[in-house]
Amino acid sequence: MSKYIGAMDLGVSEKVAGLREKIAKIIEEDATPLSEEFLEEVNIGDRWTHTKRQSEILDFLKNKAKSQGLWNFWLTDSERGYGLTTVDYAHLAEEMGKCHLGAETFNCSAPDTGNMEVIERYGTDTHKKQWLEQLLNGKIRSAYLMTEPDVASSDATNISMSCVSDGDEYVLNGEKYWASGAGDPRCSIYIVMVKTGGDDAPKHKRHSMVLVPADSKGIEILRPMKIFGHDDAPHGHMHLRFSDVRIPAENLLVGEGEGFAISQGRLGPGRIHHCMRSIGQAEKALELLCKRSVQREAFGKPLAQLGANFDVIAEARIEIDMARLLCLRAAWMMDQGDPRAAAPYISQIKVVAPRMALKVMDEAMQMHGGVGISQDTPLADMWMNQRTLRFADGPDAVHRRQIARKELKAYTQQKMG
Ligand SMILES: Cc1cc2nc3c(=O)[nH]c(=O)nc-3n(C[C@H](O)[C@H](O)[C@H](O)COP(=O)(O)OP(=O)(O)OC[C@H]3O[C@@H](n4cnc5c(N)ncnc54)[C@H](O)[C@@H]3O)c2cc1C
Repeated sequence: MSKYIGAMDLGVSEKVAGLREKIAKIIEEDATPLSEEFLEEVNIGDRWTHTKRQSEILDFLKNKAKSQGLWNFWLTDSERGYGLTTVDYAHLAEEMGKCHLGAETFNCSAPDTGNMEVIERYGTDTHKKQWLEQLLNGKIRSAYLMTEPDVASSDATNISMSCVSDGDEYVLNGEKYWASGAGDPRCSIYIVMVKTGGDDAPKHKRHSMVLVPADSKGIEILRPMKIFGHDDAPHGHMHLRFSDVRIPAENLLVGEGEGFAISQGRLGPGRIHHCMRSIGQAEKALELLCKRSVQREAFGKPLAQLGANFDVIAEARIEIDMARLLCLRAAWMMDQGDPRAAAPYISQIKVVAPRMALKVMDEAMQMHGGVGISQDTPLADMWMNQRTLRFADGPDAVHRRQIARKELKAYTQQKMG
């Protein structure tokens, strides 16, 4: 039972309603058609640099949003922010989830929001000047490097990249993979989880977080990881090797052994932001499903009226609305300022949101017939991207473990699982 007993306002304030309307207009009129053009351009020339047209599209969208003050909404509970709560942000992020470039248009995309949170909360003034300012301005992008090919990374105590102090530097060796966004030509800074402590140190004090400039000597990009055969260029999920990579000692965040504490701070906001956008994606899929079901006829009737299609539509609406409420409740818990108390609520929505969105997208593809899984609708891409969220930021099973452990706490003194 939550100790927070105050009124839980999950609604849309007047301020947020105005912002949401402006965001929705840009998403529908600009970002959606331009996302399609942006993705078509990927096949022209080098997949890992932006074409002239791709750069123009990004500049146009960002300038349009920025000129209207529609920027960096994710920065909740901070002097630099917009004065929004996480609940407020959830309503906006849902809109941004509706197309490929939606979040980036407003400088609210993954993995940058989570990474900016880290530098904002745990970085020094120098880090902020060097990296955060440019990230906040949308000039550069970033990646978060935790997962490693040789260890089960859902258990972060396994992370093994070595980071050895040498005078006023650290030296890093090892491999990382699934580094989302590390393929982007603008990606300039990596936040890297490394092992600094020996096996004699307490399990949760062996790891640290360091800032590594992407152009550091000794970093090789080995390959993009493919998702069902797609490389997700130019964003990419890269496999990298670090060979004697030297960074200044001051690039350590907070202190040695603080990696776990920082990753908990980072992954909370990052995870829930994904879920908010998943709900927007599910809304988009239901919209496409409904339009198709009333516009196309078979057996003398609109598709909507055939078989169990009313049920399909009703179930999709019910599940989206249930997930949204769960997401808003987790957001509200985050707004209470106790990340540990909020964590199991975030885990709940992290399990539910992708699962729900995948189901709605699957039904939307089915309602479209063969074209539903083709290049003529965004549904197949949406489904593919959504499927990755059952792994990224922690697989479902790990979140269920977190939820169950909290549930069992009331019944035993023994540490379970
Ligand atoms: C598209 C994509 C983008 C990603 N982006 C990033 C990124 O930017 N940065 C980054 O560091 N990582 C990223 N990841 C990696 C992701 O976070 C890891 O894949 C995830 O944490 C799982 O780690 P693993 O792959 O090593 O799986 P493992 O740890 O080997 O786990 C494999 C499976 O074991 C099962 N399992 C694990 N623990 C439990 C448990 N407690 N109970 C029951 N079953 C369990 C689950 O079914 C799990 O899927 C990304 C992954 C994908 C697919």
